[in-house]
Amino acid sequence: MPAPVAFLATIGADEEAAYLAALAAAMPQETVRPFRALTEAERAAVDVALVTNPDPAEVARLPRLVWLQSLWAGVERLVHDLGPGAPPIVRLVDPELARTMAEAVLAWTYYLQRDMPAYRRQQQAVLWQPRPYRAPADTTVGLLGLGALGSAAAHRLAQAGFRVAAWTRSPVSPATREALPTIETCAGIGALPDLLGRSDIVVCLLPLTAETCGLLDAGRLAAMKPGAVLINVARGAIVVTDDMLSALDAGHLDHAVLDVFETEPLPAASPLWRHPKVTVLPHITGRTNPASAAAVVAGNLRSYRETGRVPESVDLARGY
Ligand code: NDP
Repeated sequence: MPAPVAFLATIGADEEAAYLAALAAAMPQETVRPFRALTEAERAAVDVALVTNPDPAEVARLPRLVWLQSLWAGVERLVHDLGPGAPPIVRLVDPELARTMAEAVLAWTYYLQRDMPAYRRQQQAVLWQPRPYRAPADTTVGLLGLGALGSAAAHRLAQAGFRVAAWTRSPVSPATREALPTIETCAGIGALPDLLGRSDIVVCLLPLTAETCGLLDAGRLAAMKPGAVLINVARGAIVVTDDMLSALDAGHLDHAVLDVFETEPLPAASPLWRHPKVTVLPHITGRTNPASAAAVVAGNLRSYRETGRVPESVDLARGY
């Protein structure tokens, strides 16, 4: 009988119950218990913990912990809170999450490509006025990040006929190139201005790291094509909000669809709520599905129990 798996999650009771039920169904051979329900002896034996933003003090009370499985894809807070001495952190890489993310990126892209924010404004002004049509084939989507989620989004956008140019930290692997043959790619900070300058729609799907925090500042927003639009579905702090508002107010950028914010929920006093060129979404673009996440976690745990090898984990120095 393996040691119990600790569950350390800062989520509501209903969500916790949904996760525990899904995990029990996906891996009946394991015992998953909330941290608070573990006895001292059980805590001492725990080798794997399933977490969303856990209390670092609770993690420190698991002396034999070998690795942590995040139930979320974004791990910046975990990496920050647990520090350089953290045990290996395994991110959630869930095909169902990638599918829902890609579906939403395509939806928000169509929303902008078909000028819906402008038609909304026209409706409010009781104005009947068709606008010029720009086909997907004439629309370049600049995708910042081509990881698990970015690749799925790139595939979906390309299938829909958009021209996709993706930006990564390091040159893409031959396998990615083969999987996404029509996607143009470029890598490194030096390549960013050119990509921004020719993208009609910029989609941000980067992790939040020391390198990406504040990446889209006044200078980089100024490098975007006049009249371009921004979709941020990654993390709020990647975009400098005041700089983005200035670019929208100056008419340099046409619209921003924001699913993520530095402070969530977005405070009622934020000017983003009422800005005519901003669409606010309550972090719903890529929601973790407990059942599909549990299946991924079960696979990782099974492999670890069988081989003793920790699944591929986050590079703590790089931050993702
Ligand atoms: P991955 O780690 O799989 O991919 C990250 C991508 O970003 C890689 O292509 C990587 O480049 C690129 N990247 C990282 N740093 C840089 C940099 N400094 N310069 C250029 N490119 C960089 O992450 P996922 O695709 O799984 O997830 C991306 C993010 O999406 C998560 O970190 C999370 O913040 C966010 N997210 C948002 C959700 C929502 O509901 N809105 C839901 C889930 C996740 P390289 O390939 O060279 O390593």
